[in-house]
Amino acid sequence: MNADVAGLLDSVDAVLLDFDGPVCSIFAGYPARDIAAELVELLHRHGVDVPSHLAGKRDPLEVLRWTGTATDQRITRLVEDALCEAERRAVETAAPTPYGREVIVAARQAGLPVAVVSNNSAGAVGAYLAAHRLTGHVSPVIGRAYAEPERMKPNPEPISRAVRMLDVPPTRSVLIGDSLSDIEGAKRAGVRVIAYANRAAKLDTFRTTEADLVITSMGPIAEALVARCEGEEPESLGGGISRRGNVGAALRDGEDQAALAENSDGTADRSPRDTELLH
Ligand SMILES: [Mg+2]
Repeated sequence: MNADVAGLLDSVDAVLLDFDGPVCSIFAGYPARDIAAELVELLHRHGVDVPSHLAGKRDPLEVLRWTGTATDQRITRLVEDALCEAERRAVETAAPTPYGREVIVAARQAGLPVAVVSNNSAGAVGAYLAAHRLTGHVSPVIGRAYAEPERMKPNPEPISRAVRMLDVPPTRSVLIGDSLSDIEGAKRAGVRVIAYANRAAKLDTFRTTEADLVITSMGPIAEALVARCEGEEPESLGGGISRRGNVGAALRDGEDQAALAENSDGTADRSPRDTELLH
């Protein structure tokens, strides 16, 4: 597995990251189901006849997607604005993904540009990156198109836009994502894709997709990027977490060293309870 990860990363010139999953669990402290319920309540208040299946949704992005197909642009903008505000609140209690930060910093150390391509709003992503001192490491940040939910992944357009902005061929780019939308969007954009199964339930599903690789931890990605910095082959790792010291040693910037300690705690990857498979 780790040799596969290293081989794939050696063949790309840019790293694209989905946000919710590979970078953090955005709704760790402000549950997605609560936000979804608030959006449904907003629709009710504006006289929208919400189908019963939507009322039980745990994913606010699904509520927005439905709103875009079933209501007018004024209502879609209301829901979009409410979701943007909720996401900005959510990032304040987002849980960093183990090794998510290391992947970003190690990729930059290896000379690879890092972009975020997210179905969350760019404002929320930017706020998270700023709070975690990652702003200077990530560009561009491509978030959800305002009040146009049909342009969210699996629409390949935001992924293609990131690749164009980085001036890298799609086939020399890889997207790391934790949803079927990421996998489908990347394949349609001609970009390679690593599927991050951050919950056991996703593993079997992802293995039946066109994902180039399926991983269960961001650790092996970080390890391979650090090895690339050091010009060496990554060691064979059980679970990809035993070389944490080397990860830190390769990242010499003082701010990064301090920040790396924040989530190099050796804990198992958290399972975002409220993230639907689609997002
Ligand atoms: Mg995701």
